[in-house]
Amino acid sequence: MEHIVIIGNGISGVTTARHIRKLSDKKITIVSAETDYFFSRTALMYVYMGHMKFEHTQPYENWFWKKNRINLKNGYVTAVDTDNKELKFADNSTMSYDKLVIATGSKPNKFGWPGQDLDGVMGMYHRQDLENLEKCTPGTKRAVIVGGGLIGIELAEMLSSRNIPVTFLVRESSFWNGVLPAGESDMINRHIREHHIDLRLSTNLKEIQADENGRAKAVVIEETGEVIECQIVGLTAGVSPNIDFLKDSKIEINRGVLVNRHLETNIHDVYAIGDCAQQHEAIGLRRPIEAVWYTGRMMGETLAQTICGNKTEYKPGHWFNSAKFLDIEYQTYGWVFSKPMEYEKQFYWEHEDGKKCIRISYHKDTKEFLGINNFGIRMRHEIFDKWLTEKRDIDYVINHLKEANFDPEFFKQHEAEILQHYNSQLVTNA
Ligand SMILES: Cc1cc2nc3c(=O)[nH]c(=O)nc-3n(C[C@H](O)[C@H](O)[C@H](O)COP(=O)(O)OP(=O)(O)OC[C@H]3O[C@@H](n4cnc5c(N)ncnc54)[C@H](O)[C@@H]3O)c2cc1C
Repeated sequence: MEHIVIIGNGISGVTTARHIRKLSDKKITIVSAETDYFFSRTALMYVYMGHMKFEHTQPYENWFWKKNRINLKNGYVTAVDTDNKELKFADNSTMSYDKLVIATGSKPNKFGWPGQDLDGVMGMYHRQDLENLEKCTPGTKRAVIVGGGLIGIELAEMLSSRNIPVTFLVRESSFWNGVLPAGESDMINRHIREHHIDLRLSTNLKEIQADENGRAKAVVIEETGEVIECQIVGLTAGVSPNIDFLKDSKIEINRGVLVNRHLETNIHDVYAIGDCAQQHEAIGLRRPIEAVWYTGRMMGETLAQTICGNKTEYKPGHWFNSAKFLDIEYQTYGWVFSKPMEYEKQFYWEHEDGKKCIRISYHKDTKEFLGINNFGIRMRHEIFDKWLTEKRDIDYVINHLKEANFDPEFFKQHEAEILQHYNSQLVTNA
């Protein structure tokens, strides 16, 4: 019987396995060095904050895998021999495969900062990072977080929930402003500061200093030379594909494992999906590597079809993403660029409380709806997906916004204001 081996038990690897099982009787093995069972990485923060136990991050009961004849192997793969179709593990054992799926996810970036490997310095990605954070928490008087993205702000929230003062070093002049337009980015700057987090914009880490036991005791700021005493340093300056173990293999890699639209690598019967996969050519306006949860899930579903004989191209559809910045929920559908493209116009409305806003992007000539950012207002994904597919125009979207809202009361209250604002912007833009 054909043996499918999947390295990585994250969302992409596990989705592939589940769908192969739905479609076939193949022998399936999932390998991971992190945990025995799949868990939801995006829920790690809630474990530290005491909202749930680690077991509650596991969407499937432990018996699920045996019942579905999915073998789980705990082990770290150190090498892949594609000539002999064999994996080598850290304990020198081996495993052969007929088809191999690489779904090894990401690892936190480190940029060669002096002191980056000291005790008390950590990323926030793997379960082991959470355990390390827990171990370092007692006695911590201040934490410094380096890198202002989605994981950085989560780590700031986690530490704040345990009353640990946080200094947050962000290289950019405003939070996540490579992705967020100025209005939204500034809203989040204000929100971070309201939570008593010491946000330092346009600020870089120079080095991390050690105490006599080799533990982090302070960071030094590049621009000013300021020394900030701290016992925890969180490195959250982005992630990159976790593929070092492939360096000596024949599998073609760049930043990630290079794949075509069918998620095939250059080697027959070897595929890559999820955070570690890199498209040879980006799909539409997407990035060649997309380190987001739902991408891994969609790739897993697509690849299962191909592996089971129904060769299927990966077609991710309209871009969407969601996250939470402390108390403010964020969703984006379609494309809203931080600095509008030459063909793009944007309509922006912000609620007077400074915690809710909408930005709608549209084509300046055709008025075609291109995308929306929602902050603090939850909107329906399927509606925007439909409007993007139907190429609705901005007037239609504005006039039907309440259909997309989960809370019709909100629109009863604010619709007139949003419409008025829209009409006045049209006059100004004319
Ligand atoms: C704190 C946090 C919050 C996040 N929040 C969001 C969010 O709100 N929305 C969103 O879209 N995304 C979010 N993400 C990103 C999302 O979690 C990832 O995109 C997703 O988990 C990637 O899934 P994956 O299956 O590709 O890889 P992973 O989940 O990284 O799983 C890969 C697995 O492979 C294992 N592995 C790696 N190398 C080897 C090896 N050589 N041998 C054996 N095992 C190996 C790893 O240990 C890991 O268990 C968040 C990530 C983090 C860390």
